[in-house]
Amino acid sequence: MTSFHDLGLAETITRALAAENYAAPTPIQLQTIPVALSRRDVIGIAQTGTGKTAAFALPILHHLASDPRPAPRKSCRALVLSPTRELSGQILDSFQTYGRYLKVTGALVIGGVPMERQVRALLGGVDVLVATPGRLLDLVHGNALKLQDVEFLVLDEADRMLDMGFIHDIRKIVSKLPAQRQTMLFSATMPNAIAELASRMLRDPVQVAVTPVASTVERIAQRVIHVDAATKHTALIDLLRDEAADRALVFTRTKHRADVVVRRLTAAGVASAAIHGNKSQNNRDRALADFRDGRVRTLVATDIAARGIDVDGITHVVNFDLPHVPDTYVHRIGRTGRAGADGTAVSLCDADEVALLRDIEKLIRKSIPASGQRSSHPPARHTPEHAGHRGRPSQPSRAKRKGRDRRPAAGHPQQNGIAAVAFLKGDGKGDSRQQFRRRRRRKPAQFDRAQAGG
Ligand code: AMP
Repeated sequence: MTSFHDLGLAETITRALAAENYAAPTPIQLQTIPVALSRRDVIGIAQTGTGKTAAFALPILHHLASDPRPAPRKSCRALVLSPTRELSGQILDSFQTYGRYLKVTGALVIGGVPMERQVRALLGGVDVLVATPGRLLDLVHGNALKLQDVEFLVLDEADRMLDMGFIHDIRKIVSKLPAQRQTMLFSATMPNAIAELASRMLRDPVQVAVTPVASTVERIAQRVIHVDAATKHTALIDLLRDEAADRALVFTRTKHRADVVVRRLTAAGVASAAIHGNKSQNNRDRALADFRDGRVRTLVATDIAARGIDVDGITHVVNFDLPHVPDTYVHRIGRTGRAGADGTAVSLCDADEVALLRDIEKLIRKSIPASGQRSSHPPARHTPEHAGHRGRPSQPSRAKRKGRDRRPAAGHPQQNGIAAVAFLKGDGKGDSRQQFRRRRRRKPAQFDRAQAGG
């Protein structure tokens, strides 16, 4: 079995991995790390849960450690772009965890908090900067950040950044980077626009891929409950009460619907919290921490907010609403059944959603068994209209669906990329990922100040 040491990573890094109980590299790490260590560009096709963060973070840390020098003022040596605040925070956490025995500095540049702290954090320059594209550009335009010294660029979850309308921001950012750099692009899917972006931004890249998106769902026990739209709430409450749903992630189509679900669950005595783009960053952090620590067993989320959630031990994913884009179904249910664990995915499907269900079944190439029928309407047949036309459900119109599902409205905080937070300063000791999170949760304000000032 190949070990992290065999891959040629520095001992200071393999020691940190041992402390995290990482026994061996995952397939995406096995493929990516040697290529990245040789400084080649990489296109990685991998979704969350595969260990892709370490696949790019470890070689970057190795390079930074083997060529230690201070980052120039208002600048960074490695830039990681990610679609959401949560994911960005988790990526920086990972860098800190893996780099705990290195003297590596980092900063986070995301929407949702004031900009001044970020400006201060960048003043002296940092080794690793993790950012959402909108706020990063704001800082560049405000002369708080220069990008001409970037040596390593990572685009994480590139397909999501495309979905969220960040493609122009990314082009602008890349146009400000030096041509001489190493670039890694990770994406769960490879739509044409991403392939085209990659062909412009990467030089002679090596492509690595792990299990195609549709086959990662094999381990997860999936089923569908046909319901009337009006009885979805009752069905959800019954489901969460009946099953050993120790940690359930419930997806709704809209932020409003997420709030309504939480209200109905609370009224029924099921403790839950919502996480979506209208919630303040503090609110989102608290909901996530409560869910992660088991204080709240049910988290209700929209797709965009859920994108960065990296919580182990999710026993159930419930689709309160079926997604309009079939790939989204795979992303959602992949939140359970991680790291070899069993998982259950239940979809509540009303008569209007049957066409969406058929599209999903076509994508995953199997039919999802129905159980606990609660609908007065029989499920619609698999009609020729649906057969063989992946992604073409009859209703609502495709343009409408795209607009509603994929792009946050103008003025949406994620679209505009609001403000910053944590800053880590490598002191050769570092704390564990759990300690880091605990500390941030306990005293977020003090922590940020300490980090930014440290
Ligand atoms: P990611 O796909 O980067 O979001 O990683 C998914 C989860 O796998 C995270 O909780 C990581 O801490 C964990 N992980 C990553 N690499 C390994 C590994 N080699 N061994 C065990 N766990 C890992």
